[in-house]
Amino acid sequence: MKKSNRETGLRTKAVHAGEGPDPATGASAPNLVMSTTYVLDQPLGFSAHDLGEDSPFIYTRWGNPTVRQLEQKLAALEGAEAGLCFGSGMAASAALLLGLLNAGDHLVASDTTYAGTAELVRQSLPRLGIEVTPVDTSDLGAVKRALRPNTRLIWIETPANPILRLSDIPALGGLAKQAGAKLAVDSTFATPLATRPLELGADFVVHALTKYIGGHGDAVGGAVLGRAADLRALSLEAIIHYGGILSPFNAWLILRGAATLPLRMAAHEAGAFVVARFLEAHPRVASVLYPGLPSHPQHELAERQMGNFSGMIAFQSKGDGPALAARMAEGLEIIHYAVSLGHHRSLICWIGTEDVMASSFALTGAQLEAYRAFAGHGVFRLSVGLEDPEDLCGDLDRVLSGA
Ligand SMILES: *Cc1c(COP(=O)(O)O)cnc(C)c1O
Repeated sequence: MKKSNRETGLRTKAVHAGEGPDPATGASAPNLVMSTTYVLDQPLGFSAHDLGEDSPFIYTRWGNPTVRQLEQKLAALEGAEAGLCFGSGMAASAALLLGLLNAGDHLVASDTTYAGTAELVRQSLPRLGIEVTPVDTSDLGAVKRALRPNTRLIWIETPANPILRLSDIPALGGLAKQAGAKLAVDSTFATPLATRPLELGADFVVHALTKYIGGHGDAVGGAVLGRAADLRALSLEAIIHYGGILSPFNAWLILRGAATLPLRMAAHEAGAFVVARFLEAHPRVASVLYPGLPSHPQHELAERQMGNFSGMIAFQSKGDGPALAARMAEGLEIIHYAVSLGHHRSLICWIGTEDVMASSFALTGAQLEAYRAFAGHGVFRLSVGLEDPEDLCGDLDRVLSGA
């Protein structure tokens, strides 16, 4: 098929980018290539360092046609030069951190992130001689004070799990640049529909494809997006040597999910507005955090940085959180009481502040106070799915009201 160079919209990219009819069969949908190895028409070297852009597929850990299609689609959606897929969001995060940082380097990391990331940076990286300073990255002064001559990377997550606190990407990109460091953004909660960090000054974007991009709760995966030269270096080390590759079957499922990402994000956002306003008016709810509501403490930044407010809500109940969580686990009929997020099904879970401090964040002093200003004794993290929002409100109301 002949292609003009006309720039297309995100909905068109979500459907078509990275894909094309199969040249051998004319198949319109992407092929699922499960082959681990590929028949060569001439003998080739055995080092991945010999691989170039136009090299044939040789071995699926080095590159796979179905995974490659997903990488190209994700790069198109993020406005990135290139993308690399991994077996999970954590594999993507670990690959980027381990691929970039050396013993003696310093990392400034958001003090509030996905729990797995928080534990990786606090527990594993220092063991390898990497210095880590967890900082409230919504506080630019705190980030500035944390920077050192050996700071190599600033890592943020925005909106951040589980309190939906935002970090200002252009401002942090500027600070990173001045410090000779790079900026990586875990944009899982935002998706490319809400925020395009590379266009705002970030060097790397990380996604848990398990969440909104796959979108259906049936495939774990992760990705790193960025400049082609940076990702080529990361591919040689982190994909080929650490080996945490995405299964082609999962890539195929995620490709299918990603095609409807723009439509789903519009529906997630619309549903989340209805549910967030319902919760805000509910007598048993103490506070609601949703970046789209004027009551969010950083609503002005959300409006500047997010083109879609996504489907994630955090709220505090009046009274005993764990007791309400138990009632939810037993009594919700539509919403699943479960971890994870970004699926077509609505999911809710309780994240107690004391628990998460003990297991993952270990904040004290002003940083703990800043967390508590958002979360109090704990939040319910609600991932608003694609059901009728009125049904979700009814489901929540029954349990909240104790009926
Ligand atoms: C889920 C998640 C991850 C980790 O993804 P997995 O696929 O579960 O490894 C990382 N960051 C954020 C923000 C997440 O929500």
